[in-house]
Amino acid sequence: MVDAEWDKVNFRRDLSVTIARMLTNDRPDPVDLPNDFPEGFTTRLAQLMPPEGVTSTIESLSGIDVVALRANTLLAPAEATFAELAAMGIDFRRVEWSSCAATIRAEQKLQLTTSAAVLTGRVYVQALSSQLAPLVLDPQSGETVLDLAAAPGGKTLQMAAMMGGLGSLAAVEPVAKRWFALRDNIRRASAEGFVKLYRTDGREVGRKTPERFDAVMLDAPCTSEARFVAGDPTSWRYWGPKKIAESARKQKALLRSAIDATRIGGRIVYATCSFAPEENEAVVDHTLRRLGDAVLVESFELPVGNTQPGITKWQGKSYAADVALSQRIIPSRYLTGFYLAKFVKLKSTRKPNSGLP
Ligand code: SAM
Repeated sequence: MVDAEWDKVNFRRDLSVTIARMLTNDRPDPVDLPNDFPEGFTTRLAQLMPPEGVTSTIESLSGIDVVALRANTLLAPAEATFAELAAMGIDFRRVEWSSCAATIRAEQKLQLTTSAAVLTGRVYVQALSSQLAPLVLDPQSGETVLDLAAAPGGKTLQMAAMMGGLGSLAAVEPVAKRWFALRDNIRRASAEGFVKLYRTDGREVGRKTPERFDAVMLDAPCTSEARFVAGDPTSWRYWGPKKIAESARKQKALLRSAIDATRIGGRIVYATCSFAPEENEAVVDHTLRRLGDAVLVESFELPVGNTQPGITKWQGKSYAADVALSQRIIPSRYLTGFYLAKFVKLKSTRKPNSGLP
């Protein structure tokens, strides 16, 4: 075995021992804990997932080997785009659950991102976990769809392609710099005639456009724990209990707005790239308690193996049983961490008529 492979084996073994000790309350010395992350982070992970999940999460945050992409069928058939990538010498692997998705080795990322295919919008670099969220929402041609937290636009563009440019798609982003990045990506993909952009706070949208949309995507702003980079403190600069609580407050208001903006019978997908239950299951639980039988959490299938049902207990609190129908994607070298919940709206949530809080 070459040295790098031995390092990987040793890393996995050391990590497993540390995690096993954390779980059995046999507290390791502080020096034993993986110290490539902010204090308390790995302990929380160990309370959230089985040891092998923690190992694969830490490995994933220590460096993803693959970069994922999506062929934009608004501009060219996927097969033509993949032929173009092959002609450039890009060594890609198609993904079995999507005719538009592929992965490449990280070493070829620069070649891809500087290629005409990316610069002119035929290819969009987008994590595979991120590509699963629109598949769960499943927007159809002719529907009226809203992306409530849209920049830089990966999911907006994927949904535009899934809808074949038929129907209507609104994308909301309040942060100026990110709104401009979204606009540029929409233009690059030649989707500006189809996607209507709004620079506004998503929390206001439900009140302004109640019960208008068939389907709403809320890929919420979060602490981005699944994007932490081992050993890089800038990637978790603002992380901590205060930031998690602040994020959760905003997420609850955004999810309420997303549901208010959905027509009766419509569907909503709530997603984050955080592992924190406060930003995931607790937001779903809060929403169910507030809205009673006006919404239900719907189960859904994911075409990937590394998943875990939403947790129903965290730090002494119990969540509604249906929260277990949401899903966590445990990170691996192939998939980044993600949380997904799907709702169906059954009754009006308009405040004056519904009597709901
Ligand atoms: N869906 C995007 C994609 O696939 O490219 C990524 C969205 S990112 C996880 C969350 C976005 O929510 C950020 O662009 C952030 O600026 C935006 N955001 C923050 N506060 C918001 C608010 N009050 N209303 C709507 N969006 C907000």
